[in-house]
Amino acid sequence: MVQSSILGFPRIGGQRELKKITESYWQGKVSADDLLAKGKELRAHNWKLQKEAGVDIIPSNDFSFYDQVLDLSLLFNVIPDRYTKYDLAPIDVLFAMGRGLQRKATETTAAVDVTALEMVKWFDSNYHYVRPTFSHSTEFKLTGEIKPVVEFKEAKELGIHTRPVIVGPISYLYLGKADKDSLDLDPISLLDKVLPVYQQLLAQLKEAGADQVQIDEPVLVLDLPEAVQAKYQAAYEALVGDNYPELILTTYFGDVRPNLKAISKLPVSGFHFDFVRVPEQLDDVVSILSSNQSLSVGIVDGRNVWKTNFAKASDFVSKAIEKVGKDRVVVSTSSSLLHTPVDLVSEKKLDPVIKDWFSFATQKLDEVVILAKNASGEDVSEALAANAASIKSRTESSITTNPKVQERLATITESLSTRKAPFPERLAVQKEKYNLPLFPTTTIGSFPQTKDIRVNRNKFAKGEITAQEYETFINKEIETVVRFQEEVGLDVLVHGEPERNDMVQYFGEQLDGFAFTTNGWVQSYGSRYVRPPVVVGDVSRPKAMTVKESVYAQSITKSPMKGMLTGPVTCLRWSFPRDDVSGKVQALQLGLALRDEVQDLEAAGITVIQVDEPAIREGLPLRAGKERSDYLNWAAQSFRVATSGVDNSTQIHSHFCYSDLDPNHIKALDADVVSIEFSKKDDPNYIQEFSNYPNHIGLGLFDIHSPRIPSTAEFIARVEEILKVYPAANFWVNPDCGLKTRGWAEVKESLTHMVEAAKHFRAKY
Ligand code: GLN
Ligand code: ZN
Repeated sequence: MVQSSILGFPRIGGQRELKKITESYWQGKVSADDLLAKGKELRAHNWKLQKEAGVDIIPSNDFSFYDQVLDLSLLFNVIPDRYTKYDLAPIDVLFAMGRGLQRKATETTAAVDVTALEMVKWFDSNYHYVRPTFSHSTEFKLTGEIKPVVEFKEAKELGIHTRPVIVGPISYLYLGKADKDSLDLDPISLLDKVLPVYQQLLAQLKEAGADQVQIDEPVLVLDLPEAVQAKYQAAYEALVGDNYPELILTTYFGDVRPNLKAISKLPVSGFHFDFVRVPEQLDDVVSILSSNQSLSVGIVDGRNVWKTNFAKASDFVSKAIEKVGKDRVVVSTSSSLLHTPVDLVSEKKLDPVIKDWFSFATQKLDEVVILAKNASGEDVSEALAANAASIKSRTESSITTNPKVQERLATITESLSTRKAPFPERLAVQKEKYNLPLFPTTTIGSFPQTKDIRVNRNKFAKGEITAQEYETFINKEIETVVRFQEEVGLDVLVHGEPERNDMVQYFGEQLDGFAFTTNGWVQSYGSRYVRPPVVVGDVSRPKAMTVKESVYAQSITKSPMKGMLTGPVTCLRWSFPRDDVSGKVQALQLGLALRDEVQDLEAAGITVIQVDEPAIREGLPLRAGKERSDYLNWAAQSFRVATSGVDNSTQIHSHFCYSDLDPNHIKALDADVVSIEFSKKDDPNYIQEFSNYPNHIGLGLFDIHSPRIPSTAEFIARVEEILKVYPAANFWVNPDCGLKTRGWAEVKESLTHMVEAAKHFRAKY
């Protein structure tokens, strides 16, 4: 019998229950007990759903109130001292590490002021994890409630036997970093210290009744240094034994072949591989299996919304069975389903033709079950026939193909994607035109998305207010944002993006070739979820998308108003892409659509234009090689297609966040000014890397993910540090990212301090 499994289920709830309760807790509206009870309810719901769908191997400990990697740090006592000194409840330590905490003193409690740990992209996905942060004084031990054990027992009580998921020791360490007091520390050197804690955890899981654990080692799809590869054998020998559950070593998002040697003799009970991404690795990975090791075949896509092609997937599973036999094959999702929306059934407005092409997390449960049944020889012919009909409908649909777009794509040349003059010449005319002071100040685009804004947007969507009334409302919001920026003394203004629900969705909704969902939320980080549009066909822009708001904003101020667009790569990365044409084709189509928008803005008098590309780094193929260099070329080219149709005096900005960037990748975009997330980068080498960046740059000065407000002195100290390696003449002053998730009070104070700091330096230079 071939079994079915999934590697993890979305934790957010079908109606974003987790977000609602978490944010209510942060606002002090519900108690910690309420929050914990809701978590328990969500877990129970998800387990039952999987059980009812007939999934054989159901995961536990895939739930988290913030992030599963952060959970492990808490469990292992990898908690920097700055979070422990306040005597916070464990759940508050978790949130303080995840998002920072600033709390005034009360009669009974001391004031709290602590920044968040660094948060970065989870491989090439749009999920973010909180980096384990180690120091010489880190003392590994199991602390607090043993979450994986508690949740295993919780499921057991419901009559559901689960397979706990934990991140394996090498990935856990490798994905972490040294704290600022211990920069000489190589996290991997801590392996011997962390292994006993894994042993204790595994022993406790066994004791609780777990017979198998899914141990994730996703770093095996990276270019792992030899020295790290060499650690696997001994590490896993230490974790296998009669006192521990069996281990299924799990990898996803890529190709393990270059690291195969590292895992080829591991004493684990089985392996999981991602065959959606890399079907070609089948023969090689099978070659390392010993005769009693199982093979979990990740063939249902955990990262996208397209229906699995059953005919193709079944063929693949059959091939695997031929090689290792029915009893050792498990049909699974390629990765956790965390990256897919919860349930297609809640999509009431989607074109039924397109809806029939999709499969969300709940539907993917059925997919693994059907594929496993089929492989076991059960009769699922009806499901196979229905699937074949959907696949055919999509392949043959006119929704996917637009000949005009394809013709225009063929006209892209090198000169179409190159500015009229090199940067120094552009800089000269721009200096004259804008006459900005040294240390020019700006923001990244969005201002607080208040409840009022959301309420009005919903009313408009439901037809409860007219387009005219909505526009008046938006204009009033824009005016508030503009007046505030003038008051505080910012130099290059923004309109605040009140009309945008999301920086990608807003464009997706206006472009042809996209479909969008009403409830297709996916966790991005913490309580932030996104609702990615889906690229279903060739992309084009029927009409201007942002000109009206920018022009209005410019009309009410004399300061330069920065137009604000989302770049082609980010539009693509933060959508669910097509799987029937390449990423390059989709990005270049988006580049052309945005080119028209950039030119319309310029023609309407908006001549400072920011094209955000925060996702450019996450799209980087995980391994060095041809695929990566090709990506770097087409990603940069699609940005330049969008931005190089303008005059030399038009100032193109771009913005990047969430990841460690390579300055060379950014250079290739040739933007006049770039702003990058920087406030949580403690490593002086990282600043150094940017020291010879040729164009102008704003290194983000404060963390917009955190409610805490830096003082003017803190801003000054930070700028001073950066000025040690970075020339004042090229220096812009700005936050890390947009301010949409913050409240007005915080924003006002932070920006006031930031502008004061800029003035301080203007007086000095
Ligand atoms: N302009 C966007 C904003 O300010 C940029 C957001 C982002 O980079 N994630 O919200
Ligand atoms: Zn950003």
